[in-house]
Amino acid sequence: MAPAHHIADLLRAAGLAVELTSDRALKVAPASKLTPDLRELIRASKATLIDWLTAIDEPAPDPDRWCWPHTTAMNTAEIDLLVSRVDLFVRRGTNVIDATTLADTLVIRDRDADNRRACLECSNLSGPRCSAWRRAGIGGPMVSESLTAILQRCPGFSSVEGL
Ligand code: SF4
Repeated sequence: MAPAHHIADLLRAAGLAVELTSDRALKVAPASKLTPDLRELIRASKATLIDWLTAIDEPAPDPDRWCWPHTTAMNTAEIDLLVSRVDLFVRRGTNVIDATTLADTLVIRDRDADNRRACLECSNLSGPRCSAWRRAGIGGPMVSESLTAILQRCPGFSSVEGL
């Protein structure tokens, strides 16, 4: 027997619409276009067509079904965010290993709903300078490199857009 999609193409070429009903039956219309040969073809390939239509009707499996919050593996959104954060931290002068370590820490931080933030995530940081240092209460605009990756609660913090 020909593959189901070939049979469906043949029926469509004959002007017929082939659908699956909600109770998983085959619906072929309009009846006026059905010839005896086409009726026989449909009867002989009914099960094959139903299986094929069922398969293409099924939604694609969720790529995150084995990821957080179902398991500890990172889901797609977490991976995208991690990559963006690593990119930001590297652009801000952090080496790739430290940038990845911090981004990994932030995945756990976010899962724990921990409200601490790092200067490296803050839009007020430019090089070693903090433009909101008075609001932050740090006594001056310079932020020590050793402090930029430390999680803390800063009143001046402002997220970098999208992160
Ligand atoms: S505002 Fe706070 S978190 Fe942001 S760079 Fe300044 S000290 Fe760091």
